[in-house]
Order: sequence, then C-alpha cells, then structure tokens
Amino acid sequence: MTGGASHEKASTTVPSAFGWCAWHKGHAEDLRLIQIHEQGSGAGGNLFACGPCRQAHHLVPLADRP
Ligand SMILES: [Zn+2]
Repeated sequence: MTGGASHEKASTTVPSAFGWCAWHKGHAEDLRLIQIHEQGSGAGGNLFACGPCRQAHHLVPLADRP
C-alpha cells in the first residue's frame, strides 16, 4: 500500500527535535538554535526557541544568519 506518509526522512542538517524552549520556558517541538552561550564554568549552554517564540520575538536562527 502506498500511504501518504509525511516526513518519513529525518533531517540531518537541522535537528528540529523535541526539547526545551528558553523563551517560554517549556518543552516544545521544532526548536531552532538561536544563541550560543560560551561560558567557562557555571550555567550556560545553547538557547533554543520554538516556532511561536521565534515569531513573537523576531528571532533568527543561527543557521539562517549570514
Ligand atoms: Zn517557545
């Protein structure tokens, strides 16, 4: 049978996975890397934003920047 399955192939370039959105402080899908925090020690890490937050805050993913 030939079903109309959507998105069978996983994208390897952009990891749009389920994770933590740093903007609305919650879990979400379709996260994109927005900001990389480089800190020697202590808290830090990369900041990911979900789709709605990217639109609300006009965030541009790092991959889409020049
Ligand atoms: Zn969000």
